Amino acid sequence: MSEYHKPLPKPSPVSAPYWDAVRRHELILQKCGGCGAFIYYPRPRCPQCLSENLEWRSVSGRGKLYSYTVVRRASSRAFADGPYVLAIVELDEGPRMTTNLIVEPERIKIGMPVTVVFDDVTPEHTLVKFKPA
Ligand SMILES: [Zn+2]
Repeated sequence: MSEYHKPLPKPSPVSAPYWDAVRRHELILQKCGGCGAFIYYPRPRCPQCLSENLEWRSVSGRGKLYSYTVVRRASSRAFADGPYVLAIVELDEGPRMTTNLIVEPERIKIGMPVTVVFDDVTPEHTLVKFKPA
């Protein structure tokens, strides 16, 4: 029985390859065969050109902090273990991910380089977070 009480991902047929890779501690994104864009979040067609010709590619896991907020007052009981940093990270490949940044709030600077970390929150679930590079 897991001690983890926060909501967990429920992979869809489209997002399952992403979550399977994350469990292996690998970050993959869809890359469009039509226009070359990397895509996040997983979806059935490219949001730029609507192509359905998408392939999964390994990406660097590096990026920079685009925006953030420090959550000190939780929106639900499950997140009452704060404060925590809710961040938007712009990956080197282009897409922006909403994520958690593992850092003391005093150290945060917009644009700071960050790198992915994989948080195995249960035996079956791994979450993608970031830390300063
Ligand atoms: Zn495209």
